[in-house]
Amino acid sequence: MKVKFWGVRGSIPTPWKEAMKVGGNTSCLQVIPKSGKLVILDAGTGLRMLGNELQDTVQGHILLSHTHWDHIQGFPFFMPAFKPGNHFTIYGANWAQKNLKNILSGQMRAPYFPVELEQMGAKLDFVELEEETFTLEDLTITTRSFNHPGGVYGFRIEQEGKVLVFATDMEYTEDNLDQRLIDFTRDADMLVYDAQYTPEEHRTKIGWGHSTHIAAAHLAKLANVKTLMLYHHDPTHSDQILDQMESEAQQIFPNSRLAVEGLELEVGA
Ligand SMILES: [Zn+2]
Ligand SMILES: [Zn+2]
Repeated sequence: MKVKFWGVRGSIPTPWKEAMKVGGNTSCLQVIPKSGKLVILDAGTGLRMLGNELQDTVQGHILLSHTHWDHIQGFPFFMPAFKPGNHFTIYGANWAQKNLKNILSGQMRAPYFPVELEQMGAKLDFVELEEETFTLEDLTITTRSFNHPGGVYGFRIEQEGKVLVFATDMEYTEDNLDQRLIDFTRDADMLVYDAQYTPEEHRTKIGWGHSTHIAAAHLAKLANVKTLMLYHHDPTHSDQILDQMESEAQQIFPNSRLAVEGLELEVGA
């Protein structure tokens, strides 16, 4: 199983010269299972670039951690969803008791967008998730909800003994790491975790739903993770600040690494 990072930024895209090494698109991660099937985690603006590379008729799965804008705004620009013959299944929780299809079509209604979801040419199916374990193509996926305004799901994805955990948009500090989160991430080969803030920034943003790179590193250590990918970078963080955060995380958990747009990695390599 491989992963490719298409968007690593949190909150809002950051097309900004000092942040271009790490990248400015919002949350989108492609999981490439052994079968080669198309599996995508989050539909932030990174999804647009992924879509531009899919030329043939495609069938795929898009799993949404939650539906804040930075996790769905790439969807109206995902060209394969406009192509008749293509087929996508979109998975997410029934956030705010609005059904998943309504949440996604809402951001495409006039006067917000010129094309409605119902006019997209591909066949779109919607599956509402609970906390559960299910099989998707050749992957086994477990979902759990965590602490974020409005709710969020983490995904634990397993194939042939290798484990990827995608855990973005959740607020925990090194002093209050939830035992459920430690259990959920335990022994993962790769943990992709919310590292939006520095501890100084977090002090003024308590309740905003995000963690720090320090909490991420402590979690990785406690849960015996192999590789930690620092993810959901704050829009105010330049490449230089992020390099600094990476080296601070490495002092706690040596195998910490910044998630960078375009980076492709084998899970457990
Ligand atoms: Zn977010
Ligand atoms: Zn969020």
